[in-house]
Amino acid sequence: MGSSPETEHPVKALGYAARDSSGLLSPLNFSRRETGDEDVRFKVLYCGVCHTDLHFIKNEWFNAKYPMIPGHETVGVVTEVGSKVKKVKVGDRVGVGCMVGSCRSCDQCDADQEQYCSKVVATYNSDVVVTYGGYSDHMVCNEHFIISWPEDLPLDGGAPLLCAGITVYSPMRYYGLDKPGMHVGVVGLGGLGHVGVMFLKAFGVKVTVISTNPNKKEEAVSKLGADSFLVSHEQPQIEAVVGTMDGIIDTVSADHSLTPLIRLLKPNGKLILVGAPTTPHELPVSPLLYGRKLVGGSLIGGIKETQEMIDFAAKHKIIAAIELIPIDYINIAMERLQKSNVRYRFVIDIANTLKSD
Ligand code: NAP
Ligand code: ZN
Ligand code: ZN
Repeated sequence: MGSSPETEHPVKALGYAARDSSGLLSPLNFSRRETGDEDVRFKVLYCGVCHTDLHFIKNEWFNAKYPMIPGHETVGVVTEVGSKVKKVKVGDRVGVGCMVGSCRSCDQCDADQEQYCSKVVATYNSDVVVTYGGYSDHMVCNEHFIISWPEDLPLDGGAPLLCAGITVYSPMRYYGLDKPGMHVGVVGLGGLGHVGVMFLKAFGVKVTVISTNPNKKEEAVSKLGADSFLVSHEQPQIEAVVGTMDGIIDTVSADHSLTPLIRLLKPNGKLILVGAPTTPHELPVSPLLYGRKLVGGSLIGGIKETQEMIDFAAKHKIIAAIELIPIDYINIAMERLQKSNVRYRFVIDIANTLKSD
């Protein structure tokens, strides 16, 4: 028997979708697949709003597929599991981050780095199959991509860790910027940056925030625990720390120069780019040669590492600072996110506010 979209995706769902590069989101009725043997279905409770959602809905990376339902910092409660599922049961709290599938047999998948699998299936706007993200009433995915939620980690403040958290945690571990006594800079105090400060402090690292906004200083130091705070356009402040950092995590979402950041590194220092501006950076070579400095990148983290990060966050009480919003506020939230006007992550209260009329 041939299959039709209706038989493959028979379960009605409701989400908020962008229809074009205006990026404006509005309700969309769509459908999801039946719960397969290895699938977990869950009711979405909260979903974080990542700057990547904003880049995608506005087609800033030139690969948008509309209608697009964003959301890859999704947490909820399991409503149904397939017959072969072992990881979780009905009623458990779970999360899904940026991936819902991969080939599961290549070198990258074998090394628990599914994010680098050439067949990785993004949670939404996937190149492989049609996927819709967490700005929706429920989700279904293979249990491998489900994160078990620790008992003592709040769902709303924990949701942003599923992307923002793992995106800063993974490079800190991989590039060895997690050693007590090191000095690491965090550039951009937004969703990624603010949890980055908290993870570094939990590792025992000395943290300097580099921000465009002097008004964030007080909070960065007193609430997030940063050791110092520099305003990127205040030249004397920057000059005072040239050559002092073992590493820098750059989370900036817009165009900016890397040259001043490279100067802040010690010899053998590492500048790690996780922010994804839409135009290419200029890379000055001499400052890299004189000091054997490295510029690297990193994309989220694998599923095993994401679980490790979530458990670490629960243990060390790393919880995102959030502004909880109803879904019908999302277009205003996106405008504010564009202007870096959020302390520090919007999280959508999906279960209480996404309802069909
Ligand atoms: P966000 O909350 O908007 O934070 C970005 C921060 O960058 C802002 O708060 C601001 O910090 C700074 N900034 C903004 N415009 C700037 C400019 N013109 N010059 C200098 N600094 C500027 O965004 P986010 O959700 O943390 O995401 C940050 C970036 O990471 C985005 O590009 C996103 O797509 C990318 N991302 C990458 C991955 C990955 O796997 N690599 C994963 C998630 C997100 P200050 O106010 O402190 O200056
Ligand atoms: Zn993200
Ligand atoms: Zn693979």
